[in-house]
Amino acid sequence: MQNKDHYVLEVPTSKSIELVDVTDAVSGVVKKSGIKEGICFLFVPHTTAGITINENADPDVVSDIISGLSKAVPDSSSYRHREGNSPAHIKSSLIGVSKSVFIGDGELVLGTWQGIYFAEFDGPRARKLWIKIIGT
Ligand code: ZN
Repeated sequence: MQNKDHYVLEVPTSKSIELVDVTDAVSGVVKKSGIKEGICFLFVPHTTAGITINENADPDVVSDIISGLSKAVPDSSSYRHREGNSPAHIKSSLIGVSKSVFIGDGELVLGTWQGIYFAEFDGPRARKLWIKIIGT
């Protein structure tokens, strides 16, 4: 869906915690924009999700990131937030909700082993990723 000033990518998630590879979807938005040189700015408008760039060759990396985050931020009953999903809020802040990627020759410029992942920490939910493409 094209908003008047940014593209909105729908990202349905299917698990409580997962990393969804959105590289191809973002790449498609960049190609459709017609921008050849510039920046692709990605923003997650949620407080229990995030976005990260990491290895997309070995799927064990993704599962290790998820298990490492869960060890760093354990589920516990000692959080104050009444909704009960404080670990998801903390993981969102650790991972962050925005990333910028260069655009060159009309394509995303990523390292050989890099992919872009939408990070779900309190799913499954219907999520959105905002994409702003700036350039010429
Ligand atoms: Zn909450």
